[in-house]
Amino acid sequence: MAVLDIVKYGDPILRKVCNPVSDFSNLDQLIYDMFDTMYEAEGIGLAANQVGQDMNLFIIDIAHTEEAVEPCVYINGKIISSKGESPFEEGCLSIPEVTFEIMRPEFIHFKYQSIDGEWHEKEIGGLLARAIQHEIDHLTGKMIVDRVNDVARLPFKKQLKTLAKESKQRLNNLA
Ligand code: ZN
Repeated sequence: MAVLDIVKYGDPILRKVCNPVSDFSNLDQLIYDMFDTMYEAEGIGLAANQVGQDMNLFIIDIAHTEEAVEPCVYINGKIISSKGESPFEEGCLSIPEVTFEIMRPEFIHFKYQSIDGEWHEKEIGGLLARAIQHEIDHLTGKMIVDRVNDVARLPFKKQLKTLAKESKQRLNNLA
């Protein structure tokens, strides 16, 4: 197991619509590493493109919260429908030290595959629904900065610019 580098704001892989997973035979190592990485960063969710993998896969662990849902891997997830709306302060491991109040539906009807390839369909609410929507955003190239207006973004303008610059430098160094 290993802690992976978390891709930061400004890296183009965070703007990609990720490829569906079709081969379920070789995911274990990546998933272990993603959990290690998420725990090290003290996050509750992590999408594959946040560790540089173009795959429709994310993990969530909110076992330590009131909802106490077991840690889970969600593959090829689709939000079928949603209802309600509520605000919640969200952060993101790819945008350190930045939080925004984001409006999202409270309940979702969600369909996904587990690591064995089985399909599941569930009605989900609360923090889990919130986290799933955040991760689904990642896998479709969206981030929390896109869900707020210019006024909300203004206090973080400099931070975002610095992050984008650092991502660009990192990519240049890899090239
Ligand atoms: Zn995020």
